[in-house]
Amino acid sequence: MVGMRAAGSYRKLSFWHDTVPGSLEPGDPLPGDVEADVAIAGAGYTGLWTAYYLACANPDLKIVVCEREIAGFGASGRNGGWCSALFPASLGKLERMAGTDAAIAMYRAMQATVDEVGRVAAAEGIDCHWAKGGTVQLARSQVQLERAREEVAEARKFGFGEEDLRLLPAAQARELASAADVVGGTFTPHCAAIHPGRLVRGLAGVVRARGVSLFERSPVVQISPGRLVTATGTVRARYVIRATEGYTALLPGQRRAIAPVYSLMISTAPLPETAWAEIGLAGRPTFSDLRHLIIYGQRTADGRLAFGGRGAPYHLGSAVRPSFDRVPAVFDALRRTLAELFPVLGEVEVTHGWGGPIGVPRDWCASAGLDCATGLGWAGGYVGDGVATTNLAGRTLADLITGNDSEITRLPWVGHRSPRWEPEPLRWLAANAGLRTMSWADRQEARTGQPSRAAAVMGRFLGA
Ligand SMILES: Cc1cc2nc3c(=O)[nH]c(=O)nc-3n(C[C@H](O)[C@H](O)[C@H](O)COP(=O)(O)OP(=O)(O)OC[C@H]3O[C@@H](n4cnc5c(N)ncnc54)[C@H](O)[C@@H]3O)c2cc1C
Repeated sequence: MVGMRAAGSYRKLSFWHDTVPGSLEPGDPLPGDVEADVAIAGAGYTGLWTAYYLACANPDLKIVVCEREIAGFGASGRNGGWCSALFPASLGKLERMAGTDAAIAMYRAMQATVDEVGRVAAAEGIDCHWAKGGTVQLARSQVQLERAREEVAEARKFGFGEEDLRLLPAAQARELASAADVVGGTFTPHCAAIHPGRLVRGLAGVVRARGVSLFERSPVVQISPGRLVTATGTVRARYVIRATEGYTALLPGQRRAIAPVYSLMISTAPLPETAWAEIGLAGRPTFSDLRHLIIYGQRTADGRLAFGGRGAPYHLGSAVRPSFDRVPAVFDALRRTLAELFPVLGEVEVTHGWGGPIGVPRDWCASAGLDCATGLGWAGGYVGDGVATTNLAGRTLADLITGNDSEITRLPWVGHRSPRWEPEPLRWLAANAGLRTMSWADRQEARTGQPSRAAAVMGRFLGA
């Protein structure tokens, strides 16, 4: 188990932690042994949404959440703020797993979930800088444009129309985000840009106000049927939920369940209006392009660019350490990529650089479930698409626990069990080979102008 951070250092975790209102002083740890109906390990979005919907469904339930650091310490406080309808498994993959109707139902449920996050934030007075401006995905080469066409064709095959995803001619794409070399793109309205720290910290306050006991600086050392064990006490509960995502491998018996893969981000100083006039992003659509090694960005409410990407290495043994959050070479690469996209940025100051672990299951398919015999439940494996998906997970777990046989409990990810990752060093080889192949494929495509088959082959090998 990794050690805890110094209590005063949480502001430095990310731009979002630095700018979230209110104190980041940790609350009390679990004071000793307690009885509860539901015990939850982890106070990111998954743990907090689960607690929220349970408390809404039955205010009499005694719900205890134990968080190793502070609420929002993990990916939920550090992400790119895309509250999107993206789901890590493709429609085609879900179709193979569960049939066409189930695949479509999953994607429709994700679209509705984006609005559900916005609804609750507004209803509960959480000002998370919500702006539902959609997502513009830029095609910056003919190869990328072809990929955009394929994505739209795939959506149409499953009955998703222009109102869900549409191909953009170059002029329209540039109007939304005036990046260099744009030859087209896609647009979906199903995404909101948010300040993720405000959402997660706001949610923590809301669940506390609804009577949930949220203990911070309370590392869970073991989860077993009816028991959630911490250093300072044990919570005995009929239901015990694991909501530890990128940190799951640190729990006993979970080493091969979910691989922590790092995503890193930078944010700029506020940009002058003249720069925004050139860049666009009016209405704050989130943006990316169609390269293999994912990049993602948003215009923040205070006029900065927050921009991230994968590319940091996976660490042997699913290790998670504070030093992995900061890789100067990756920050430099992000800075260069941003300047390539928007040359008007010139030498703009980068004020923050940070990162965190996302949770990657072996088959790249997120899941949420509850074993009724043992009372053990879980949700996670969202890869880089957890901001909205965690809300669906929270509602699903609440329905499963309260026995509410709703439509969402029949979605194909419910009860899905991903295979375990290979033992080391195979896991290290596979994960890093995947990351290297994606960036190599991007370089090769830029050089030759031809699509690289390597990325697709590697994606299939990894089960993505
Ligand atoms: C840099 C970055 C950018 C991202 N961008 C996006 C994006 O734009 N859109 C999107 O949809 N997704 C994005 N993601 C992914 C998304 O943030 C996550 O999928 C989501 O936040 C997962 O929420 P969670 O609650 O399951 O996990 P986390 O937020 O990681 O929460 C897990 C919590 O459990 C706690 N914990 C761990 N182990 C223990 C233990 N033993 N005992 C007690 N507590 C424990 C941790 O401290 C942590 O607070 C991004 C992730 C990163 C890192």
